[in-house]
Amino acid sequence: MPASPKAQSTMFRNAWIVDGTGARGFKGDLLVQGGLIAAIGDRLEENAEQEQDCEGKVLCPGFIDVHTHDDAMVLSSPEMLPKISQGVTTVVVGNCGISLAPLTSKPPVAPLTLLDESLYRFPTIAAYRDAVNQAMPSVNVAALIGHSALRLEVLDDWRRPATELERLRMGEMVREAMDHGAVGMSSGTFYQTAYAADILELIPLVRVVASARGLYVTHMRTEMDDILAAIDEVALTARHAGAPLVISHHKCAGRLNWGRSVETLTYIDGLHKQQSIHLDVYPYVAGSTMLRLDMVDEETEVLITSSEPHPELVGESLSSIADAWKTSQREAAKRLMPGGACYFQMHEDDVVRILQHPRAMVGSDGIPHDSKPHPRLWGTFPRVLGEYVRHRRCLSLEAAIHKMTGLSAKTFKLGDRGLIRLGFAADLTIFDPETIEDLADFHDPTRPAKGIVAVYLAGRLAYDFRGHVLNRFGRFIARSNPS
Ligand SMILES: [Zn+2]
Repeated sequence: MPASPKAQSTMFRNAWIVDGTGARGFKGDLLVQGGLIAAIGDRLEENAEQEQDCEGKVLCPGFIDVHTHDDAMVLSSPEMLPKISQGVTTVVVGNCGISLAPLTSKPPVAPLTLLDESLYRFPTIAAYRDAVNQAMPSVNVAALIGHSALRLEVLDDWRRPATELERLRMGEMVREAMDHGAVGMSSGTFYQTAYAADILELIPLVRVVASARGLYVTHMRTEMDDILAAIDEVALTARHAGAPLVISHHKCAGRLNWGRSVETLTYIDGLHKQQSIHLDVYPYVAGSTMLRLDMVDEETEVLITSSEPHPELVGESLSSIADAWKTSQREAAKRLMPGGACYFQMHEDDVVRILQHPRAMVGSDGIPHDSKPHPRLWGTFPRVLGEYVRHRRCLSLEAAIHKMTGLSAKTFKLGDRGLIRLGFAADLTIFDPETIEDLADFHDPTRPAKGIVAVYLAGRLAYDFRGHVLNRFGRFIARSNPS
């Protein structure tokens, strides 16, 4: 067990403080006492048990990864090095309809197999919460309950829509999850396990979420040609249920849809006049999910990230495998399944435009279970700060940090996190704005980023530049509903 030293008081001196609101940074000192932010000022007079000089460094709220599939990793690899090494202090698990709870009655099928299959043993979010608190990961965990997990648990055949009785049963499970602090429900009608679910099934479930003031987070039915219809479907569901909506990993996928983020964002802004809609996005032109035949078009570059029958081919491109086997990419994909892949299906201009959208938050969508994961698992947050802020200058430092902290905490109702504000939890990240950079790439995807100087949870040092997790102070954090 990691040591749990008594919370100390720490004075951070001479930092460039970026508070997470989007407001301009300023040079100053910050005092942490008893895990909370106790004073912020130009030159603080107070003394603390320890001091850290932050000259030339940015001091900001710890990053919040709003889109993760870390449900199992927080239990089985509680050091959470891929995340804390990026300056992340809180992860939101349970995205895309995929969550460990409440599925216990049968073996998971894809896409629930994106998580460690042996860990589907939590009948409730409360049981999952207890396991998280026992594992004591290095980062905090907020949870969504996944609609596909509900469907698999409740329906004998997930290929059909739920009956009224099954909807009621699922609604009770959503209620339980919300009562125990879930931040909302996620769905993924893109996936086979939820494809049969229509708005008649989803609206009553999202209504339960809305009545507890949670949010509806969704991987839409499609992100390709019919994306506007997909946006309509999720917006209608959220609007009828009365819940705020988060559209997951927003993208315009497939060559024919490149450039269409102009259209989708305008469309979303139009809808936002009547209802709350936010987005999350990762800073890469490649997506990653299971290996699926409908995503292999012989044109999009596909990189294999896992393959049950051919683990030796992980890291190879599908086109080179198909060439070697003297067959089509689709045929090669069939032989490699089940597996995972990265699809280079987006255009850089769309990625930038979506990142710049004022209601877009950063979420990695990393998949820790893949043997050679998409580099977003290890690189997302430093990549935004190094590549998109420092090199390309398409976001200000303050706007980027807001999308990783304050906006995320407010949208996901994470209470006293995500801002540098008196009385808030002192989850803090210190980084060097001149050197921060993601080092993970598609060939070497598990390299920790550089430029993260130190990461604190509730005022206690959890990680520093030497690259090791020093202490694990994470816990399950429940939805907060300020009145
Ligand atoms: Zn997804």
